[in-house]
Amino acid sequence: MTKLERLKIILDAAAEKEISWQNIKVYGYQYNYEVPFIKSISKFWFGDNVVEEYIAPLNEDSNHHNRSGRIKKSTEYITIHDTASTAKSADEYAHAKYVANGGGGTSWHYSVGSNMACHQIPNNEVAYHAGDGLEVEFKLMDTTLMGDNPTPVLSIIDGFYAIDGKKTKVSIPSVTFEKVNDKLVYASDGIKQTKLAPFGAIEGEKYQNITTNHINDAGIRIDLIDGKYYIGPTYYNATYGFIANRGGNLHSIGIETMVNEGSNLIRTWHRCAKLVAHLLLENHLGVDRVKPHHFFSGKPCPMTLRSNHLWDYFMNLVLIEYQILKDFSDVKITLICNDEAVDAEGLIQKDSFDNKIIKYQIKLEDKTEQCIFDYQVKIVK
Ligand SMILES: [Zn+2]
Repeated sequence: MTKLERLKIILDAAAEKEISWQNIKVYGYQYNYEVPFIKSISKFWFGDNVVEEYIAPLNEDSNHHNRSGRIKKSTEYITIHDTASTAKSADEYAHAKYVANGGGGTSWHYSVGSNMACHQIPNNEVAYHAGDGLEVEFKLMDTTLMGDNPTPVLSIIDGFYAIDGKKTKVSIPSVTFEKVNDKLVYASDGIKQTKLAPFGAIEGEKYQNITTNHINDAGIRIDLIDGKYYIGPTYYNATYGFIANRGGNLHSIGIETMVNEGSNLIRTWHRCAKLVAHLLLENHLGVDRVKPHHFFSGKPCPMTLRSNHLWDYFMNLVLIEYQILKDFSDVKITLICNDEAVDAEGLIQKDSFDNKIIKYQIKLEDKTEQCIFDYQVKIVK
């Protein structure tokens, strides 16, 4: 099989056969809105990964507190957020400017919208976006449990993590009530949080009510190395009531995706997926290291992708972009489509109608070969 034939197999898998318009609800702190949404003709985006540099000043060169210049010890994850800011003006440039102006103490590496990806914090530096603190460095804990399941199920038995029903020697985080000034707050493994303790709580008392149901729905990091399971560092986030993973602030690259009204959401998500593929390869990470903010805190973020059941679709976009970038970066991929319903990037235009069949071709060129393949997609009601 030639290289272009192997690429065609991935593009075949990426090609949608039938797509339809649906209304999705977009969530923001100002207001929510509904907008018609349709997937593109392919999970591969025919647009380009373009990044504009808007690097924020270091704290020492500004009166800000959101870019310490602290170098990450490792990059373990790519963290996906959405801004939950629906105002029309809340685009990627506004958010890049916000981070450059101090970000109210917060920061993240990229703001991705339908027009651009803006780069604000150098990828090797720590940023403040994941809500999991800055105290605990990433370190795998040896469960001493042997196994061979690459996708094991984690639960909690008697205060210890269990893998596929077998109790490990790794205890779940201890949760206590501790004093900050005059107030009692939750603490996880002794690290104090901002959430106030419930009425009647006693200083030093242990909070016992943590069960399997409190594990965040994006899971806990488990690595299988030489037939043994290891668990990443975890903590209890009292604000959201979930056991979550450490490593969001200290060990990830944070990306905010835009959801401002009037922006093109599918274009934002494609742009983000392509950027993520580049970041994964640059940092020698697999697709399984792309995590929603939820994974690090239990916060329901990115809200719009999650609430519309589009997170898995987004991850499929990432997978396709990753597979193609990894092995076929030297192949020129061109969309050929004369139908006005589709733009040059493979996105469906607003005035396209139901029961329309769109025919298109994809041209592949490398140094030795050139091929053109036929595809079609139907817009159904
Ligand atoms: Zn977030």
